[in-house]
Amino acid sequence: MPEDCIFCQIVAGEIPSNTVYEDDEVFAFLDVNPLAPGHTLVIPKDHHERLNDLPADLADDLYEALHELIPAVEDAVDAPASNVGFNNGEASGQEVPHVHGHIIPRFEDDGGHPIHAVGG
Ligand code: IMP
Repeated sequence: MPEDCIFCQIVAGEIPSNTVYEDDEVFAFLDVNPLAPGHTLVIPKDHHERLNDLPADLADDLYEALHELIPAVEDAVDAPASNVGFNNGEASGQEVPHVHGHIIPRFEDDGGHPIHAVGG
């Protein structure tokens, strides 16, 4: 693992996090700077920079975790919907170069923007 990767350090327990979920391959924790209550990050434990860098079996594991976590996060904060997405590469806004999916709960009339508002 790269020594300076904060998400690898979170997986290793070297940086504290509010853990939401953990299995052998995947880790999920609350975003330290949430865009909404319950904003959760879902990551592979192994270090890969971009979503498209993941081996297929690990991508499957990540998706399976998302499949369970999306409704669980929504239920936890009583949200009817969520934005789910990955910033993929620095120019897209990816600040932490370790693959992470955002689950951002959304509420009726919360004033937020849909993902397709990027650049708009
Ligand atoms: P990105 O812009 O898609 O790379 O998102 C990185 C996310 O990681 C941001 O939403 C940050 O708030 C979040 N983040 C950065 N450091 C930490 C941390 O130590 N714990 C939890 N979330 C973090």
